[in-house]
Formats: sequence, C-alpha cells, structure tokens
Amino acid sequence: MPTLINGKEVSEKIQQEIAAEVEQLIKAGKRKPHLAAVLVGNDPASQTYVNSKIKTCEKVGFTSSLVRFDENVTETELLKKIEEMNEDAGLDGYIVQLPLPKHISEQKVIEAVKPSKDVDGFHPINVGRLVLNLPTYISATPYGIVHLLEYYKIETQGKHCVVIGRSNIVGTPMSILMAKNTPLANCTVTLCHSKTKNLKEHTLQADIVIAAIGRPNFVTGDMVKQGAVVIDVGINRVTSTETKSGFKLVGDVKFDEVAPKCSFITPVPGGVGPMTIASLLKNTLLAAKKEIYK
Ligand code: NAD
Repeated sequence: MPTLINGKEVSEKIQQEIAAEVEQLIKAGKRKPHLAAVLVGNDPASQTYVNSKIKTCEKVGFTSSLVRFDENVTETELLKKIEEMNEDAGLDGYIVQLPLPKHISEQKVIEAVKPSKDVDGFHPINVGRLVLNLPTYISATPYGIVHLLEYYKIETQGKHCVVIGRSNIVGTPMSILMAKNTPLANCTVTLCHSKTKNLKEHTLQADIVIAAIGRPNFVTGDMVKQGAVVIDVGINRVTSTETKSGFKLVGDVKFDEVAPKCSFITPVPGGVGPMTIASLLKNTLLAAKKEIYK
C-alpha cells in the first residue's frame, strides 16, 4: 500500500515553525506580521476559505483583518481600497479572495495589488520572477505541494512529472516550479490540459502526477504507472448518501483505484488543501521580514 501524504500534519508543523519565528520577531521589538483578506459578496466557499485563513493567522500570532464588501461594490471602489492597502505601512500582505463578481475585472484587481504585498503571488511581476528563478511569492497551492514533496523526501531530480491542468493559480506555476534547477525540483515536466491528445499515454509515463483539473475522480487506475507519486489538488463537491449534508468532497483522482498502484498519494480532504494556508502564512512572514522586496 502507498504512503498517505498527511497535509494536515505538515501544515501544522509549518504553522509551529512560523509561530516560533513570530515570537522571535516580537522579542526583537518588531510588530506582529499583518495579513488582510478582502472578501466581496457572500459566496459560501469563499467565506469558508477566508474564515479559515483568519483563524490560522491568529493561531500563529499574526494580526489579521478582514475587509468586506457587498456584492454590488463597484470596481472603482474596490481599486480605491486596494490603493489604500498598498500604502498602509502597518499591513505586510493581503489577498483578494477570488472569484470576484462578474462586473469586476479580476485581472485589473490582481495587477493593482502592490507586488511587495501580493502574498498570493498572482501579480504578473511575481509570476515573472518565478519564471526567472528570482526570489518571489510563490502561489500558495503549488508552494504547498513542493513542501509536501520535501517533507516526505520524495525524489524529484530527473523524474518525469506530469501536471494536468494549466490554470494561472495551480497548473502553470506548478509546472514551472517542478522544472526549476533546484534540489527540490529538477523534473522533466509535461503540462497536460483540456486539449491534450491521449492524456493516458502521458500520465502512464509519469513518476509524479499532479492533478489540478476540477473534475471528480478524473484520474483512474489505468492512467497511472506502478510506483507513481500522485498529488491530487482537486476539491470537488459531489452528492453523497454517506453524509448527513448529502454532499462530500472528492479529488480529481479516483482514490480507491489509483492508491494501490502508488508509492505516495495525497488524500482529499487532508492532503494538499491544508498546505495552501500554511504557504500563504509563509509568504506573509517573508513579506513582514522584507525578504523578497527589500
Ligand atoms: P481551473 O478550472 O482554472 O483549471 C482546470 C484546468 O484543467 C484547465 O487548465 C483545463 O485545461 C484542465 N482540464 C479541464 N478538463 C480537462 C481534461 N478533460 N483533460 C485534461 N485537462 C483538463 O481550475 P483550478 O483553479 O486550477 O483548480 C483545479 C482544481 O483544484 C479544482 O477542483 C479546485 O477546487 C482545486 N483547487 C484546490 C486548491 C487547494 O488548496 N487544494 C487550490 C486551488 C484549486
């Protein structure tokens, strides 16, 4: 049977390390790192994500603040607030929770965030710095996956990594990270997407499969070679007769079929998910210590 990658445990460990660093900062007379979240509207999933980010901030000793806007806020009003936050010396980093209502341009908002405070790592300057191997805020989910591989000492050098999905927040930065000339990467990377022909031919050659598609149980047992490492980024809500709510969360990987073939696999929930927040806090600590932008 495979080793189950326990993202909750690794995330807790990273949070403890961050909390210890915060104590050191305070001892050295510095203020607590401060992360803010901007939430527009009442999307339940977004509210859950933001609440859990705030709760975890408090746990590690950060200051956290929530800026809430009604669904009908104008783009101009939101951009004005972003400008204020960019200039606020008491704020180290902030995130604007996506998705935004349709009348607001997400791209405009992403580009309005000052790169030195863009702890989500979505600004084109930070993405460009990632591509060029310069110090940057790496977007939280791919960064979390790299931490998991490192924690479980999973060999990556020279391995073939197949990333499925090319979104700006997961698949694309993931593929760049895994191809980097660093000890935690150095893979040969194939990036597959919705137009890839014969996907299975690619995945069957992979030592490491990273699935970020958003389709429940998409990766099946016949698509994965014996001994592969499988990282499941997907979080899909499907109807279920097993739960009281009538819903449950499943990944992009058909776990029961795929797991017996793997050397390592992430479960959903409890795999990649908890790592995203830990990485966001890591980025905020880097911002507070001015380690990326001096
Ligand atoms: P997205 O919808 O932006 O991108 C999905 C990608 O999958 C696209 O690039 C598309 O080309 C590819 N794709 C779609 N159908 C395909 C097919 N048939 N074959 C091959 N590729 C196909 O999604 P996203 O934002 O990258 O998120 C992906 C999944 O990861 C979702 O389930 C999301 O909820 C989850 N997610 C989890 C976390 C976390 O913290 N664990 C964070 C972000 C996203």
